[in-house]
Amino acid sequence: MAKKTAIITGSNSGIGLGAAHALAAAGYNVVINSFTDRPEDHALAQELAKRYSTGVVYIKADMSNGADCRTLVEKSAEKFGTVDVLVNNAGIQFVAPVDEFPVEKWDAIIAINLTSAFHTTAAALPHMKKAGWGRIINIASAHGLRASPFKSAYVAAKHGVIGFTKTVALEVAEQHITSNTICPGYVLTPLVEAQIPDQMKAHNMDRETVIRDVMLEKQATKEFATVDQIGATVVFLASDAAAQITGTSISVDGGWTAA
Ligand code: NAD
Repeated sequence: MAKKTAIITGSNSGIGLGAAHALAAAGYNVVINSFTDRPEDHALAQELAKRYSTGVVYIKADMSNGADCRTLVEKSAEKFGTVDVLVNNAGIQFVAPVDEFPVEKWDAIIAINLTSAFHTTAAALPHMKKAGWGRIINIASAHGLRASPFKSAYVAAKHGVIGFTKTVALEVAEQHITSNTICPGYVLTPLVEAQIPDQMKAHNMDRETVIRDVMLEKQATKEFATVDQIGATVVFLASDAAAQITGTSISVDGGWTAA
């Protein structure tokens, strides 16, 4: 059987990189992406290719730009011949009260966290329809299901991703293409790790206390989810075992949204 190809947006770090490892280990050809074009981005692709003996390429594309989003999909199809799995993962965060929220930050969050998924999905679906098989997996957040103060753009974008995912699922349901969302709680990525010293300072707490009582306050297990756990969920949703799972979201949030 021919190898399947997976594109993961925003995947030179954190959850996206975890998904890239998991999909490469599962035998997919993998396209990793970010908006930079550094030697280390391409070296990362080579490292994964060698480690998992599969095709891995880094393609620069800025997910805040619609044309770039669509080009990423077309370049991936040119490189590997098919686009079978699309993981929309690129995302940024900014925290401020609504009435002080910088307009450019609002626009960037909506563009990268929500609108990019529209563009990549629109470009990927013709390839998936042609193949008669496809998987769209969108990385939303517990904030796609719940709100927190000062995160208006992020919460709006992530709620939007869940609505978009469900709509796509209905449109392509009879073509063996599924569309689902993964909603992680806190995952200890470099992005989150970088917030810990500031939180320790702001709350005058040690690392363990700030993690447990502030960051993981709502995460019932009091443990971070891991990039490997999110990666394994991506691989499951991409598998044939998940063929009848579509138009839904899977929370990997340590019980956050159970409350
Ligand atoms: P991260 O900062 O480690 O990774 C974000 C990735 O997106 C990076 O590879 C970055 O280069 C890329 N990116 C940013 N702007 C981009 C752009 N304009 N074009 C292309 N790529 C761009 O963060 P992460 O924690 O791994 O987050 C990944 C996704 O998971 C995001 O959508 C985030 O909202 C979501 N998420 C994270 C957590 C968490 O606790 N870490 C929880 C829930 C959801």
